[in-house]
Amino acid sequence: MTEIVTASTARSAALFAEAQGLLPGGVDSPVRAFRAVGGTPRFIARARGAAVWDVDDNRYIDYLASWGPLIAGHAHPGVVAAIQEAAARGTSYGATTEAELDLARIVKQAFPSIDLVRFVSSGTEATMSALRLARAFTRRDKILKFDGGYHGHADDVLVQAGSGPLTFGQPDSPGVPAASASQTVSVPYNDLAAIRDAFQAHPGEIAAVIVEPVAGNMGVVPPQPGFLEHLRAMTREQGSLLIFDEIITGFRIALGGAQERFRVTPDLTCLGKIVGGGLPVGAYGGRREIMEQISPVGPVYQAGTLSGNPLAMTAGVSTLRLLGEPGVYDHLERLAARLVDGLGSAAQAAGVAYTANRVGSMFTGFFSDATVTDYASAKRANTRRYARFFHAMLERGVYLAPSQFEAGFVSLAHTDADIDATLTAAEAAFALASRE
Ligand SMILES: *Cc1c(COP(=O)(O)O)cnc(C)c1O
Repeated sequence: MTEIVTASTARSAALFAEAQGLLPGGVDSPVRAFRAVGGTPRFIARARGAAVWDVDDNRYIDYLASWGPLIAGHAHPGVVAAIQEAAARGTSYGATTEAELDLARIVKQAFPSIDLVRFVSSGTEATMSALRLARAFTRRDKILKFDGGYHGHADDVLVQAGSGPLTFGQPDSPGVPAASASQTVSVPYNDLAAIRDAFQAHPGEIAAVIVEPVAGNMGVVPPQPGFLEHLRAMTREQGSLLIFDEIITGFRIALGGAQERFRVTPDLTCLGKIVGGGLPVGAYGGRREIMEQISPVGPVYQAGTLSGNPLAMTAGVSTLRLLGEPGVYDHLERLAARLVDGLGSAAQAAGVAYTANRVGSMFTGFFSDATVTDYASAKRANTRRYARFFHAMLERGVYLAPSQFEAGFVSLAHTDADIDATLTAAEAAFALASRE
């Protein structure tokens, strides 16, 4: 894939070359390597508000937001000051602090379905632990997930059914034991009949259904009307737990996440990303009777040396307090709508097949003329076009996710001027993207 380089990326290129000898593929998380779009991954030197600067001093308007957490923008002065103050008092004690209670109170207030919450250090830990808990509580082993749903990289959820509903999970990665994958059933997102069939095929065996209530990891795919309600009804009828993986949607599409926005109440909720305000935090919580199965109250073991870390809790508290201000979500909604509508118009003007999905301030524009409702329809998008568009935008100072199948995010730091600049860049980028 050729990249038209107008700005210098010499230093990023040199560092990325050196990184190959230090980190597998030069990265600590695979999508950062730009394999889906080609070209040189930018090494980031600093960031502030809606902007990031790379090591060659190129400035970008950022819609990656560190993959979601930075809803307040980068280096928000209030968040930075709170972290600095906390750091000066010590970075970790291995004992409970008041900051954990502060964050727990905020989480509980935003999510009335959460009586008790346990903090961990990543989203992966949150989903992995919630699934263990669901299995212990129901005394069942199987879990139901959705094709294209991402719930972190634990064995049980690194599974996607190969073809069609009711295919037993095939591991997505070598190293995942076939025995763990075989406990996972995966069906198409938004497919009510497939869910019913899965429960019928495994009566009394499914411990939990885990779902991104707005899918964000096959690109943004909203739940169709009735989908979440159906899941709630089916799980209740079948004695399974409903787990909302709100690691992206929590505090993103409403303070109380998808469960507030769509008024469907899960048994367990997983949080991550925004809850840590840019530091490593995950969380899972839910009804008291379920959560009290966790050690030290109950028998389900789960622990963490840095769980509830005071710096991370402080970053979460100070970020979530900003989100409690009036008008915050209206502002995000308005800016994101302007951006996504504008991208749609620019694509149309350039004659490019493009369909955008947006819920609140999370969005994906698919290079496709079909509506995207599940993983199969998402995969019809033209990824070569996306790659060209991505690089044309990067060249023009706009940083989007380096893959067609990821979400973009608007933050509180974005302004109308940022949206205008982005749309101007997009007019040119769509024209380039359409050239074969
Ligand atoms: C990011 C993400 C995870 C995993 O969180 P990590 O902190 O990367 O481990 C799980 N589920 C969803 C929906 C996510 O977007």
